Amino acid sequence: MTVSEFLSKSYTCYHAAENCAKMLAKAGFADIDGKISGNPKGYFRVRGGSVFAARAGGKSIKVVLSHTDSPCLRVRYNGGEVTVLETEKYGGGLLRSYLDRKMKIAGRVILNNGGTLVSKLVCSDFNVVIPSLAVHLGAGAHGETLDVSRDMRPVFGGSENLYKTLGAENAVDSDLYCVPADEAFKSGAHGEYISCARIDNLVSVYASVSAIIAAQPKQTVVAACFNNEETGSETREGATAGLLAAFVSDVFKAEKTDACAVTALSEGFAISCDGAHALNRNHPEVYVNNAPVMGGGVVIKRNDRYATDALTSAAVKEIFRLAGVQTQTYYHNPDMRCGSTIGLTAAHTLGCHVCDIGVPQLSMHSALETAALCDIESLTKGLTAFYETEVTVKNDTVKINDK
Ligand SMILES: [Zn+2]
Repeated sequence: MTVSEFLSKSYTCYHAAENCAKMLAKAGFADIDGKISGNPKGYFRVRGGSVFAARAGGKSIKVVLSHTDSPCLRVRYNGGEVTVLETEKYGGGLLRSYLDRKMKIAGRVILNNGGTLVSKLVCSDFNVVIPSLAVHLGAGAHGETLDVSRDMRPVFGGSENLYKTLGAENAVDSDLYCVPADEAFKSGAHGEYISCARIDNLVSVYASVSAIIAAQPKQTVVAACFNNEETGSETREGATAGLLAAFVSDVFKAEKTDACAVTALSEGFAISCDGAHALNRNHPEVYVNNAPVMGGGVVIKRNDRYATDALTSAAVKEIFRLAGVQTQTYYHNPDMRCGSTIGLTAAHTLGCHVCDIGVPQLSMHSALETAALCDIESLTKGLTAFYETEVTVKNDTVKINDK
């Protein structure tokens, strides 16, 4: 699956997790919750919108963290026939970007199979549109102050049952979202950029899963792609939960590695991968020096809202330098509030060393974001090198051996 297909088809966190599982199964990874036969290349586990992958190699652990969810509109639907769909915000999306564009209804429904409640992934085969008010009827009068309950309702149909239109008429409940549906496309004079929804943060998910498949690691390596980063991570599938430690514990058991997962993680090294703000040349005034540029390499992110410190920054820069991967450093405008990532969450829940990095991109949280294809390639190359490099953490030293 190419990054373009992955971005286009992973409409929701559930679809992203399923697509990762498909990539991993195809590469010879075994579902750790299924029957494991032979000698699998590695293991994976899906839990709702989160997905974890690992390749075993002893007690030392290196982890790449990312998130599968992106801002969108959550559908408020409780059955029955409707003509417009009620929504509410999921995460901090740029509302005006959802107007007048191709959207789909996607997510999961719950079916009652003879007393067993099961999830089924759904995606509408039809598109919907959220109409803006025409300019002659006062559009712009309320500028950017769009009300979700008034302005963010997709036109659905005459009077339809949503579950029926999704081919799930027996659904008893659902987690459904109204999501941008445009296919990813190349932009720029030489097609050097890719534009699509969900670049934050599916390019990191894609890069970490591609890297763990391609790498030849000597230590235990993990790709942990969590749901619910956009709403604070404090859910069962979020980065504050114990799913990662439970997964590593089961990988150790499967490999008969005599180690405690919680201790191994606390002594490990993690890279938290999430979108970084690239220089928007239409608005140079919002950057104070150090604005990363698209095509300039992977961004090391420095701010109190990130987990990067001098030691982890130096370690990642060195690993990437040895692999021939260009890096650039980002300091957020000190007079503006910086966004957060799951880097700090991992640092304080796992206790490991963490560096926050990411691909520079434009229009973060818009329905159409843009990044340079070469930076996505650099990220994959850098994460592959990270997985292949022996990293030994002892107190406040990090030993790097790329041989
Ligand atoms: Zn993000």
